[in-house]
Amino acid sequence: MDIKSLHEKYSNGEMSVYSYIESLFNKIEKDNYNTFITLNKENALEKAKELDEKLKSSKEISGLFGVPVAVKDNILTKDLRTTAASKSLENFIPMYDAKIIERLKNTDAIIVGKTNMDEFAMGGSSETSYFGPTINPFDNALTPGGSSSGSAASIAAEEAVLAFGSDTGGSVRNPADFCNVVGFAPTYGALPRMGSISMSNSFDRIGINANNVNDVRELFNATRGKCDTDFTSIDLEDFDEDIDLSKLNVAVINLKDEYKVSPQIKELFEESIQKIKELNVNIEYIDIDHLDVIGEVYTVIMCVEVESNIAKIDGLRYGQSVVEYDSTDDFYIKNRTQFFGEEVKRRIVLGNFFASKDNEQKYYKQAMKLRWAYKNQIDELFKKYDIILSPTTIALPRKAGESKNDASSSFDVGIFNYLTNLTNVPSISIPMEKGKLGSLQIMGNREEDMKLLKIAEEIEGVIR
Ligand code: GLN
Repeated sequence: MDIKSLHEKYSNGEMSVYSYIESLFNKIEKDNYNTFITLNKENALEKAKELDEKLKSSKEISGLFGVPVAVKDNILTKDLRTTAASKSLENFIPMYDAKIIERLKNTDAIIVGKTNMDEFAMGGSSETSYFGPTINPFDNALTPGGSSSGSAASIAAEEAVLAFGSDTGGSVRNPADFCNVVGFAPTYGALPRMGSISMSNSFDRIGINANNVNDVRELFNATRGKCDTDFTSIDLEDFDEDIDLSKLNVAVINLKDEYKVSPQIKELFEESIQKIKELNVNIEYIDIDHLDVIGEVYTVIMCVEVESNIAKIDGLRYGQSVVEYDSTDDFYIKNRTQFFGEEVKRRIVLGNFFASKDNEQKYYKQAMKLRWAYKNQIDELFKKYDIILSPTTIALPRKAGESKNDASSSFDVGIFNYLTNLTNVPSISIPMEKGKLGSLQIMGNREEDMKLLKIAEEIEGVIR
């Protein structure tokens, strides 16, 4: 259900906010998709009651009124358990709200609960979650993607209307694609990261899952913008112009053989481009240099940042700790051995390796050089084009459970996603056909998120 139909139902008296929110919690229990780690049931029902009272005195419904929002479990919520799907934070109750949550609480939206994810957002299937994997509501036999698995799945299962996720290397867009919903990763900093648990701080951004582009915009507008406690947060310019697709300059990334895009995705993508072309849109095919190694570039920088960001989860500052130990080293070793999963440990080790004195020049600096090379290319392209199109992922989802013992699976579909995280530009993933797997990724210019959303809304109308 989208916001518009929900508001219609509220205003014509078809249902009260309370009855809807109550039915939502019943559904979550019955579905058993493991979309949520912690529910916010009592508070949500309380707020629903208040909103019904409000509704009595005014029939005017707008914004996020009575809209259920799911929140990824690496975003801090005051007095509501926040685990990042890690055993280390199994009992962690934050003392304050993340900035976006603080802003959300000032609206009439209702927080449903905290969604399942890969541990500390490291993974692409939720199979690294300490709380077990999420089931894909779109097709139970397939992985829901990740790491914001529960956020995308909660939308697909109609357990929420909007969801916050986080996107470091595709984690909002990848599960959106695999669960057949919309996923938006804004310009770096457009949604403040204050109070989100960092994975790789120069790539991390808060993102949004929804049923359509319009709903994305509602939540984005209610929570975006600069804040005093996050110096990387930014304000965006509004964009009120109407979009005429035929006046746009559109770039399409050439799907070279070495990218190993699956034939089904290629076919769907070409069909979508064809539909856009029929509207007299000026489309040109472009190449991005070194795109074939972008996974490696992402992995090196990400692991180095992970290793430094995760250092604070040491059992002293944050996280569970063992009671019995022989020495300081033993304390650290035991905590990390017992309270972190395989994937997190692997990335800590890799990060240390890539950043070590001997290797620094070889891997990290080389990766940073390439990051600049991607950035320069993207900057040049956006001087000429309004948007850049690609598929969201290069392959259809794997079977559920298949990724568990394959460390490389976290990285195997994301090259076009990484491109946006490495260059800090916004992008949105929309299903190419409702009810069919395979999504289109639309990249916009840095800080031109409002324009991107307008264009995406037009394209959504054309291809679906
Ligand atoms: N799948 C990627 C990884 O495991 C992306 C994760 C993310 O965006 N949080 O690194």
